[in-house]
Amino acid sequence: MNIEQLYRQVIMDHYKTPRNKGLVSNPSYMTVHLTNPSCGDEMTVQIHLLDGIVDDIRHQGTGCSICCSSASIMSETLKGKKTTDAMSTIHEFYEMIKGMPYNSEILKGDVLAYQGVSQFPARIKCATLAWKAAELGIKNNHEEEENHGRQQEED
Ligand code: ZN
Repeated sequence: MNIEQLYRQVIMDHYKTPRNKGLVSNPSYMTVHLTNPSCGDEMTVQIHLLDGIVDDIRHQGTGCSICCSSASIMSETLKGKKTTDAMSTIHEFYEMIKGMPYNSEILKGDVLAYQGVSQFPARIKCATLAWKAAELGIKNNHEEEENHGRQQEED
């Protein structure tokens, strides 16, 4: 089996058996919904942060195999990471998807299956949709925490 076949198998595995799929109705989760009109992908990602750690990630979406499998791999890749590490992982993923050099100390495992996407510009948005939702979720969480902190200081 060559590396491309292996990567295809990783993607199909996550597409058929997605990890961390299904949303929760818990207000402490930050929910972000994004769409990719060019392919018809829709993705909702929920992020729960606890003590600076990505405590939980959920996702639910419809779309192509690249988009749906990428959400599953994103959730496995980022879950349990410090939010700062999660953000740099997301950044390195974008670099890899663009075909740019990326840090292989930060980006490793199943996520490397999307390396080849850089050769198909039309699919880049499919691969990054869930990651963009996660990025927004983490950023919004931070802002809420900061606002909350400021309010407490003012009191
Ligand atoms: Zn797609």
